[in-house]
Amino acid sequence: MYNFAMKIYKNLIIGGGASGLFLATLLDKNETIILEKNSKFGAKILASGGGRCNITNQNISTKNYLGDENFVREILGVLSYEEVLRNFKNLDFSKEKDAQFYCKNGSKAVLNEILRKVKCEFRLNCEVKTAQKEGDLFKISTNLGEFFARNLIVASGGLSYKALGASGVGYEIARHFSHDIATPSPALVGFSVQKDEFWFKNISGVSINCKIKVAGREFCGNVLFTHRGISGPAVLNASLFWQKGKISINFAPHLKAKNFTNTKKQVSTILGLPKSFCREFLTALNLADKPFDEFNGDEKERFLRVFDYEFAPAGNFGFEKAEITKGGVKTDKIGTNCQSKIVPNLFFIGEVLDVSGMLGGYNIHFAFASAKSAFLGLRNVLVSV
Ligand SMILES: Cc1cc2nc3c(=O)[nH]c(=O)nc-3n(C[C@H](O)[C@H](O)[C@H](O)COP(=O)(O)OP(=O)(O)OC[C@H]3O[C@@H](n4cnc5c(N)ncnc54)[C@H](O)[C@@H]3O)c2cc1C
Repeated sequence: MYNFAMKIYKNLIIGGGASGLFLATLLDKNETIILEKNSKFGAKILASGGGRCNITNQNISTKNYLGDENFVREILGVLSYEEVLRNFKNLDFSKEKDAQFYCKNGSKAVLNEILRKVKCEFRLNCEVKTAQKEGDLFKISTNLGEFFARNLIVASGGLSYKALGASGVGYEIARHFSHDIATPSPALVGFSVQKDEFWFKNISGVSINCKIKVAGREFCGNVLFTHRGISGPAVLNASLFWQKGKISINFAPHLKAKNFTNTKKQVSTILGLPKSFCREFLTALNLADKPFDEFNGDEKERFLRVFDYEFAPAGNFGFEKAEITKGGVKTDKIGTNCQSKIVPNLFFIGEVLDVSGMLGGYNIHFAFASAKSAFLGLRNVLVSV
């Protein structure tokens, strides 16, 4: 029961990550509290972009997201990449490959800049267990006791990277309030391989530029061979769209089959790829390193798999290594401004939602955009409180 001596917050944010903190920078400091399970805020921001925080992308559009297109369009419509950069005008950003913006001052500077603007109350080491509605108020139970608020904003992220504080509490709260969850699965993650591709492991550390085909989409970029399978930007993007079944890798997108004919050069010379890759590829396909024209018909066919190496991954590296969680709170019952259509004054923002961005700054951008969208909604809600 609510104790009259207890403070009632107007806004209670669960999670001090990218979305929760960004929202807190916009809301009135006297009326808001953030509850964060970790001993520090923004663990994922710190880890983002390999410590350089890929904060946004010049090509922000629905095409770069998995999720309901209309919902994503509405959210992206409230925040442009220019506005993100203006928000961090004290920092320097470099525009890199694929129009990605990285922070030259590093992820820590991005987090510090956000924290500088977060003036509201907060509790660290505060793990939210449940949230319930009591009359007009939300009652949030935590290891530090109960908190009451008129507006509840769930910004607790997904299941990926447990080491950085991930928990499923957002899904549990959503389910409690009758929201459906699209099954969460690891995404932006490497693929583990089956026996026929164990040769990938022999060249752990080698990275080559490839083209990957998955579920009718193509991704160009580096593929990194690892002791567990394959990773690297092209693989991470492919993982967003892979469910089961085969993918295909073109290991030599810079070449055509005709480059190998009418020449005395050995195939490895023409490939021009790292020696260890050529050796393992040829061994795996039981081929000698010689001129293409000297292969028999069957050997030629096998060699040409270099352009279309089809195989079924065994799985992926799991939530422990995934940059994001695919799936989450279904958006059909989430209305304008990220507010629940089922329970008024309940909001879901960031990765907890069933919206996933590709690699390239799209996920932090979505976390910020959904936070701003909720802020716009909360402004309207606040008028009627
Ligand atoms: C290694 C790595 C690198 C990445 N690099 C990039 C990048 O460069 N660019 C990009 O766009 N995206 C990147 N991402 C993805 C991006 O960081 C996330 O999509 C984004 O941070 C999601 O923001 P969020 O606020 O929804 O969730 P989070 O940032 O995960 O924040 C959720 C917060 O809620 C807290 N929490 C969870 N459960 C509870 C609970 N029960 N009680 C209280 N608090 C709780 C967590 O501790 C966490 O602080 C990266 C992810 C990882 C793991």
